[in-house]
Amino acid sequence: MTDMPSPVLAPDAFQQRLLAWFDEHGRTSLPWQHDKTPYRVWVSEIMLQQTQVATVIPYYERFMARFPSVEHLAAAEQDDVLHLWTGLGYYARGRNLHKAARRVVEQHDGEFPVHSLEAMAALPGIGRSTAGAIISISTGRRAVILDGNVKRVLARLHAEPGWPGRPAVERRLWALAEHYTPAARLPDYSQAMMDLGATLCRRGTPSCLLCPFEDVCEAHARGEEKRFPESKPRKALPERSTIMLLLHDGEGRVLLEQRPGAGLWGGLWCFPQFDDPEALQAWLDVHAPEASQEPAWQAFRHTFSHFHLQITPQPVACRPAQMVNAPGRLWYHLAEPVTIGLAAPVKTLLGSLAQHLDDA
Ligand code: SF4
Repeated sequence: MTDMPSPVLAPDAFQQRLLAWFDEHGRTSLPWQHDKTPYRVWVSEIMLQQTQVATVIPYYERFMARFPSVEHLAAAEQDDVLHLWTGLGYYARGRNLHKAARRVVEQHDGEFPVHSLEAMAALPGIGRSTAGAIISISTGRRAVILDGNVKRVLARLHAEPGWPGRPAVERRLWALAEHYTPAARLPDYSQAMMDLGATLCRRGTPSCLLCPFEDVCEAHARGEEKRFPESKPRKALPERSTIMLLLHDGEGRVLLEQRPGAGLWGGLWCFPQFDDPEALQAWLDVHAPEASQEPAWQAFRHTFSHFHLQITPQPVACRPAQMVNAPGRLWYHLAEPVTIGLAAPVKTLLGSLAQHLDDA
């Protein structure tokens, strides 16, 4: 424990203050806060990564209605899972959820291995903190969490310098998280730490005057709440561009292709994409030589975590007789959409195309 910043309070004082605050102000009626099975807690924790509670709730409810148990999820097609993930972003989460469900059913007889932090953290998409959250919230056993909210609270309380993505900083924050975690009331404690970060110690301006740690918080004492935790050293995101081909048959059908399983939008359905107009024309010459290009639509930018993508939608009309059929392609009927996972900009463009064809 030599690598730990000086704690601002002894563990019991810290727990007492936090749990008293939670008893009065904590969130207790979120959909995943009743019937806290490992499955339900797990799905909520994965959805809540990088995504706010208000956004997650309707997705969570639809997901649970469709996949009420890990067996239902394991038996589903990946397209069904990604369909319910459409719009939530970070699709690797959805693919990993599906893989992990299959592993739980095949290797653990449908029971999450909540007796072992290591076995939980070995499941696809579950790191040490998520494993800790699932174990502590669903079983009440002692397990430590350090998600983005908890990192922010601990970094501010101790004015811990450095970006938490750096291993040395993360190690120090884990040491603090270990130090404060109690042996009892684990579900409430884990929830309270996450709630404090989400509702008071927010990323933007925190509500320090309402915080149970206002008198001991070092960042607050210095008036430097927003300085902590420090941001990742920034590199300018590179720009890439693509042309998306909106090949439609005049009868409300549009061509989609399934992306390879791994990588960008892995497993989702997208429009065919081209680097430049020449590549698009060469493709049309082969697959739809009599198709006619309409004026391109206004380009727009979609930002991923590691680059910006400039997207130019290019509508092209073809006759049904010219339709290109091949494995991994489908003619998506705008009026009768099938259940598939769609990348977010593709979903938006399908809506615009339906409008465009209605107006034509
Ligand atoms: S006093 Fe403010 S900055 Fe410190 S932990 Fe509380 S809300 Fe966060």
